[in-house]
Amino acid sequence: MARYLGSKCKLCRREGTKLFLKGARCYSPKCSLERRNTPPGEGRRKFRGKMSDYAIHLREKQKAKRTYGLLERQFKNYFKKATKMKGVTGENLLRLLETRLDNVIYRMGFATSRNAARQIVNHGHVLVDGKKVDIPSYICVPGQKIEIRSNSRQIPNIHEAMEAHKSLDQFDWLEVHPQEFSGYVKAVPTAEQLPQDIDHRLIIEFYSK
Ligand code: SF4
Repeated sequence: MARYLGSKCKLCRREGTKLFLKGARCYSPKCSLERRNTPPGEGRRKFRGKMSDYAIHLREKQKAKRTYGLLERQFKNYFKKATKMKGVTGENLLRLLETRLDNVIYRMGFATSRNAARQIVNHGHVLVDGKKVDIPSYICVPGQKIEIRSNSRQIPNIHEAMEAHKSLDQFDWLEVHPQEFSGYVKAVPTAEQLPQDIDHRLIIEFYSK
């Protein structure tokens, strides 16, 4: 599967917001965006000029795509899938992205970033309802038990993530049992439980043109 191999911090600087792509570093003073909040390639220029509507829609789509670590084709496929579902397309889109297995592992606190979560899944360290699932894009559904395999529970990165996660937000649609390295998907996230820093209406506008 193709993936972006360039600088992750540049992506945050391009979007002008933290996308939390590098784990613990993102929460520390070493965060590149905190040290230099200018778009890449624009030197010391501090302020972005007034953006056209198209640019605003494009940037929001790029922000969401990069937050979840997806390529254009993958992201567009989620959009197409969301349009075929009942309900509000933008909310459906975010729901699909939130319930990806790699995102669930990240939200549960077993990885410091979605990228790290993807590796944990890819390397076969995750069970869903007792069965190994090594597909990061696997969509989790309510009632499923997600757990780290017993012989993978000594991995230092997982322990570091769980320690760091203690001070972060918990998600009401998930139930986590850190002592057992497991958790449950209680429900699909409601509109209020979806990420509020992504304006899905702008993404829909982008694809509606
Ligand atoms: Fe983004 Fe994290 Fe880099 Fe900060 S440290 S710029 S949040 S990837």
